[in-house]
Amino acid sequence: MEQIRTLIRNEKTAVLCGAGISVASGIPAFRGTGGLWARYDPERFATEEGLTSLFRNDPRVLKEFLCEWYGVLLKAEPNAVHRILVRLEQEGWVSGVITQNIDDLHRRAGSIRVAQIHGSAMGMRCPHCGIRRRRTPQECRRLLNGLSSASTRRRIRAWILRLRGTCPECRGRLTPAVVLFGQQLPLEPLESARRYIFEAGVLLCVGTSGSVYPAASLPGYARQHAKKVFVVNPEPTALDFSADGVFRQLAADFFEKLSLH
Ligand SMILES: [Zn+2]
Repeated sequence: MEQIRTLIRNEKTAVLCGAGISVASGIPAFRGTGGLWARYDPERFATEEGLTSLFRNDPRVLKEFLCEWYGVLLKAEPNAVHRILVRLEQEGWVSGVITQNIDDLHRRAGSIRVAQIHGSAMGMRCPHCGIRRRRTPQECRRLLNGLSSASTRRRIRAWILRLRGTCPECRGRLTPAVVLFGQQLPLEPLESARRYIFEAGVLLCVGTSGSVYPAASLPGYARQHAKKVFVVNPEPTALDFSADGVFRQLAADFFEKLSLH
């Protein structure tokens, strides 16, 4: 602990966050037993083709999925770890947060330098002209209430289209700014992620199994640039063997003990 405390005090730290960070906010990991993808086949519910086909042929099933998925995300509030990371950024210890989570909780907590490498469920994007807009949780909640009260296929489809919204520039249909399975990751957040690592001396990997690419490649990028890599996770991770240090604990306990002052 003393080693990492000294490192963080002397150099900035980039923090790579995984699903483990959001569990205390009430968002279960999507992968693994009991996760969302164990009940909803990702081939149908997390690919563009699958979602298009559900919209056309099975809007009721799509409605059920969207209500459950957004419902979990909208109920969640930032937890102690999100708040600690905001403070560490404000105090100048953290160069940026890189997150695989799409729940937007780091931004909602107040972190400014956030690279959401898998996108954000609160973001919408125009596939034609690239315009982005961010939905407030209130706006999402209102749309979701409309969707959940719709019962005919026609009404359900109309609410799903309303949930997507229209581009203010080209009037095209917006799509959620989340990375679906089989889709290329947007370049910009990955570039920010590399910049945060480059500006730091330490990469702290917190609550991530380190097995989902390209996030899993970032520790390698850090080492190439002579940065120290530390892992904080209660379970073994794919990053442990190459890390400079492993803390087998929950993120909240780690940051509580860290106390930099
Ligand atoms: Zn557009």
